[in-house]
Amino acid sequence: MKIPYKTYLSEAQLPTAWMNLRHLVPHAPPILHPGTHAPVTLDLLSQVFVEELAKQELSDEKFISIPGEVLDFYRMIRPSPLVRAYALEKALDTPARIYYKFEGTNTSGSHKLNSAVPQAYYAKQQGLTSLTTETGAGQWGTALSMACAFYGIALDVYMVKISSAQKPYRKAVMETYGASVTPSPSNTTQAGRNALAENPDSKGSLGNAISEALEVAAGRENCRYVLGSVLQHVLLHQSVIGLEARAAMDSLEEYPDIVIGCAGGGSNLGGLIVTYAEDKIKGKASPRILAVEPASCPSLTRGTFAYDFGDVAKTTPLIKMYTLGSGFKPDANHAGGLRYHGMNTALSQLYEDGILEARAVPQRAVFDAAVLFARTEGTLPAPESAHAIRAAIDEALACKESGETKTILFGLSGTGYFDMAAYQDYLSGAMHDNIPTDETLARGFASLPKL
Ligand SMILES: *Cc1c(COP(=O)(O)O)cnc(C)c1O
Repeated sequence: MKIPYKTYLSEAQLPTAWMNLRHLVPHAPPILHPGTHAPVTLDLLSQVFVEELAKQELSDEKFISIPGEVLDFYRMIRPSPLVRAYALEKALDTPARIYYKFEGTNTSGSHKLNSAVPQAYYAKQQGLTSLTTETGAGQWGTALSMACAFYGIALDVYMVKISSAQKPYRKAVMETYGASVTPSPSNTTQAGRNALAENPDSKGSLGNAISEALEVAAGRENCRYVLGSVLQHVLLHQSVIGLEARAAMDSLEEYPDIVIGCAGGGSNLGGLIVTYAEDKIKGKASPRILAVEPASCPSLTRGTFAYDFGDVAKTTPLIKMYTLGSGFKPDANHAGGLRYHGMNTALSQLYEDGILEARAVPQRAVFDAAVLFARTEGTLPAPESAHAIRAAIDEALACKESGETKTILFGLSGTGYFDMAAYQDYLSGAMHDNIPTDETLARGFASLPKL
């Protein structure tokens, strides 16, 4: 039987429960109260987050069932296809079999909608009337705007300034869905004014946009702050990627030798790998699992496993993670969704335990891969996703060298229609590889809290 180009699950085969990566690493360190340094309680987390999401954040259950109304929305946008990359394989002349799980088929253009939907749903259930959030590249803000429009919740988005300049139409999409969008740092919050006082030309960062969104939520009735990556409940929701991919791969009787994902805060990667990581931990199989990050923001490959704040203003609870320090200021890079100083705790623990590998790649090599992929597979990838493509191509080329017929599965987390400034930069030769020096990293590490 020739394996089809695309494999879709039927609606009846869609997962009805999320799988929790946290369950696989019970020894991963807890979130701490920033003042007392004691593990955070549900009460404390619920002051900042939607209560049900706070519960999920602290849960170590293996499965959490997906509410019926969320399943109904998922049925509008899922399943996503598992694609066999025949054309890319041919272009590379590799004996490897390459598959990708493509999350860019919905209007938001990325996997972010998988978590935006339950987050807005639980907010509605709790009777909240508005949410605030940050967005880097814009995919999360777009996804959350869609979900908030569906559930009738007001939304304020703080968008990293450089991204809002690079992608004006992202803002228009969010506004079309009814959200209010403010470039960050802004003068609407104390955190924003502080950042501007320090550097009036600041291009912004995710960490700073988070501080602004948190500040607004804290000062408003019936409002909470929500986040599109890094936290455990976000990875939980993204497990639909991995559960679907696993069912589709199993139906083809395929088992990956290597599973690859790009990693910003870790949600698409954590979602994709969840069943394969379980196999590896339980000794049932030994797939390689690879996180790919930008060389300009190398949280895993050059970071340190330490308690840190999630935001620049140092207001969040303390999370133990691979981090460059919340004071690390990544250079401008076109993969906005990967410009975050830290990494999800469970993934950080898997990396510490040797279950997860990591690799950092410079952006010009990433765009070489993105353009090759666009020209062969037809889909224009998001710059973030192209990090995974780069690694998949390098693994496939290694197979060509060694003659091994490996099976490679990677996550194609989104499309790049709003990233044309980045592609233009690459095509014109204006793109640079920004690699932080050890001195720059040392300044970031100096910002780590002393426990
Ligand atoms: C946000 C984003 C990422 C990075 O976030 P993770 O939480 O690490 O998945 C990667 N790809 C796309 C397309 C994104 O929008």
